[in-house]
Amino acid sequence: MRPISGIHMETVDTAIIGAGAIGLALARTLSADRSVVVLEQENRVGQHLSSRNSEVIHAGLYYPPGSLKSRLCLAGSKALYRYCEATGVPYRQCGKLLVAQKGQEAQLQQLHDNAEAVGAPALKRLSRTQWQQQEPWLNASEVLLSPGSGIFDSHSLLSQLQQDAHLNGALITLCHQVTRIECEPNDYRLLVADSNKQHFTLRCRQLILAAGLYNTSLLESAAGFPTDQVPEQRQARGNYFALSGRSPTRRLVYPMPEAHGLGVHLTVDMANQARFGPDVEWITPTLPPDYLINAERKSTFVDAVQQYWPDLNPDRLQPSYAGIRPKLYLQNKPLTDFLIQDVGSHGLSGMINLLGIESPGLTAALAIAEEVKGRLG
Ligand SMILES: Cc1cc2nc3c(=O)[nH]c(=O)nc-3n(C[C@H](O)[C@H](O)[C@H](O)COP(=O)(O)OP(=O)(O)OC[C@H]3O[C@@H](n4cnc5c(N)ncnc54)[C@H](O)[C@@H]3O)c2cc1C
Repeated sequence: MRPISGIHMETVDTAIIGAGAIGLALARTLSADRSVVVLEQENRVGQHLSSRNSEVIHAGLYYPPGSLKSRLCLAGSKALYRYCEATGVPYRQCGKLLVAQKGQEAQLQQLHDNAEAVGAPALKRLSRTQWQQQEPWLNASEVLLSPGSGIFDSHSLLSQLQQDAHLNGALITLCHQVTRIECEPNDYRLLVADSNKQHFTLRCRQLILAAGLYNTSLLESAAGFPTDQVPEQRQARGNYFALSGRSPTRRLVYPMPEAHGLGVHLTVDMANQARFGPDVEWITPTLPPDYLINAERKSTFVDAVQQYWPDLNPDRLQPSYAGIRPKLYLQNKPLTDFLIQDVGSHGLSGMINLLGIESPGLTAALAIAEEVKGRLG
């Protein structure tokens, strides 16, 4: 392989592109026994997907048996609860109510059966008297409680992972953007631009793409990477509206899931402030991503929320923030699972690409790191 433009070259065992939750979890795990550099283009960690989400620890109810999302969410939630407990990352296993309206009872039963089939923590059916006593504001036909669901402080998680990786000797470099990749098995060269637009080349034996929404565009221009292995990526924005004043509950409340999303749900944060969302808004893909919240969607939010909270006063909803889901397509068909590419798919040993890591990626982060470690060997 020829050196990129003959510029100053550094060498490392493992390079990770992206310091979101996935890149940082990987840095923590892999730096235990190898030299690791994380390259992050922004001036702070976790500025994209990892700070624009619901901060829910998912219990693995929705994903089909045998899928990566199912396996990694179940393992990841256990690992995340343990990690939060051990390190002091704030969390609360607050539980989640799954709410069916009239005509949706069969959908609720399917969720119950799927949770049982994948071995998720058991769902409890609440009687009408029980849920009306506990949540008198709620409108429903049937309600299941998921005791395994919870919330956590994602910013504290990112700091803790970063700190652990540092202690192991990993180098996390902010304001460093990878602008080009050249691939050969067990030999990767990255052209990196720093904040002064000075370039250097980083050479590594192992390369992990954990660049979230940017992964597919990096692969499209990667020399030596098979083009037929780059999936199409579309973007589905999720808008959030915050509730001013007191939350009606300290639990999570989810309606029945819809295509491409989990329905406009109510989540609370660690300060017990409630927010609603995310919805699903297909947008023209852009990089950098367009996080402008679409305030015009308020009326659809009000309609969706009033299904389970008829007394919601619409004046209490304010546009808050938005996140963007990376949605993968292969031959025009949606790929609903995570896509973890390794030598078996692209033929390049030492390279792992983490594609389509939408929800439940935060919950699964620690398990994804173990999975990647196993695949790298
Ligand atoms: C609306 C929404 C709600 C969600 N809610 C939940 C939830 O409640 N629970 C849950 O478990 N999961 C949730 N998720 C999923 C979760 O947020 C993601 O799976 C997770 O944050 C993905 O992290 P990441 O590290 O892959 O991506 P990111 O956090 O986006 O990190 C990628 C990093 O790569 C960097 N990068 C990109 N290109 C380059 C380059 N060329 N050079 C250097 N750096 C680069 C970026 O700057 C970025 O920091 C949600 C997602 C969305 C969109």
